[in-house]
Amino acid sequence: MKDDGKPVGLGTRLAQLGRMSDAHHGFVNTPIYRGSTVLFKTLDDLERGRARYTYGTSGTPTVESLESAWTTLTGGAGTVLCPSGLGAVAMALMATLRSGDHLLVPDSVYFPTRSFCGTLLERFGIETSYYDPLLGGRLESLVKDNTSTIFLESPGSQTFEIQDVPAITGFARRRGIKTILDNTWATPLFFPAHEHGCDLSVEAGTKYLGGHADLLLGLVSANAETWPALKRTHQSMAMLPGPEDCYLALRGMRTLHIRLREAQERGLEMARWLQTQPEVLSILHPAFPSCPGHELWKRDFKGSTGVFTIILRPGPSRRGLSNMLDHLSLFGMGYSWGGFESLIIPFDCRAYRTVTPWNPGGFALRLQIGLEDLQDLKSDLRAGLDRLSIDRA
Ligand SMILES: *Cc1c(COP(=O)(O)O)cnc(C)c1O
Repeated sequence: MKDDGKPVGLGTRLAQLGRMSDAHHGFVNTPIYRGSTVLFKTLDDLERGRARYTYGTSGTPTVESLESAWTTLTGGAGTVLCPSGLGAVAMALMATLRSGDHLLVPDSVYFPTRSFCGTLLERFGIETSYYDPLLGGRLESLVKDNTSTIFLESPGSQTFEIQDVPAITGFARRRGIKTILDNTWATPLFFPAHEHGCDLSVEAGTKYLGGHADLLLGLVSANAETWPALKRTHQSMAMLPGPEDCYLALRGMRTLHIRLREAQERGLEMARWLQTQPEVLSILHPAFPSCPGHELWKRDFKGSTGVFTIILRPGPSRRGLSNMLDHLSLFGMGYSWGGFESLIIPFDCRAYRTVTPWNPGGFALRLQIGLEDLQDLKSDLRAGLDRLSIDRA
């Protein structure tokens, strides 16, 4: 990045971040480096590890371009890359926890994170308690003597509760408790996690950073205080994404601001339109007052993205729901989001929530709004909503 000290805008920074053209004959992008072995010239160099790169697991120019870009973008002190978003969540938790610790996790957490805590972490002697994501600073009353880490995810997966991140990181810091935020929905562009006091911030790069449903990637950025622990943990596991995925993420990063702006506009328009459809009971979208924690979103976030939930009015049967979903032509049914294509998925978290009841009043559907024409997306959903009341096989 050319740095003559002048402050530059976000688009300019995204165009410059992580580039090393001088080291690559002037080519704009850092190429895909494949490699395990790096050759040393002399015994002396080998013994002292005297080389810019020493082995594939400790970095290549491709990995380094993405890491350094993300560190600058998040305002952290360092970044590690993982082969999936869930891998990044696991990496962050393992960087701050040790056997005998107590961990606090919001009840609205991404389900596979909950599984990781309940299986692997439990096996290593770490106790997890779930908390109401809307507790804010009142969460302090759940802290135990051995609480070492508070995990946050805002908005919550599927149910979109917004957390009072500054209130939680404020008391955590005072008490020497580490905080980890899963910031995947907002990305650093819409929520600067470290500025809000988070020690570690996780991004599933699989979603908006990749942006094309063609890669799996996770990133964890750390503030200066927590960076050494994160780096050590990552080095001891050598859990890296492949170079091609890093390359694709760098490519995605160049247009992230444009795609997110578009996701925001489209998400808002579709949510506003859905709100006027008679089959829709409510909208869980952080920019809507009906979303729990909406005031906190207004206070802390710089924007909203294209993923939100709608609750249908009671009435349709399970068969009606199948009639709606099975025959959509543009909205695909499948996991993940953040790509160019629209997705829809029904969910019901009654089976696994433990401290906050989930009684939305009707079927819940999570939507990801892609880049198709909005009129076509509306027609697809409208026809689907019409099919809800058809109760035959
Ligand atoms: C998708 C997602 C993850 C996991 O990302 P993968 O790359 O699919 O493992 C983690 N957290 C949140 C909030 C997500 O939406």
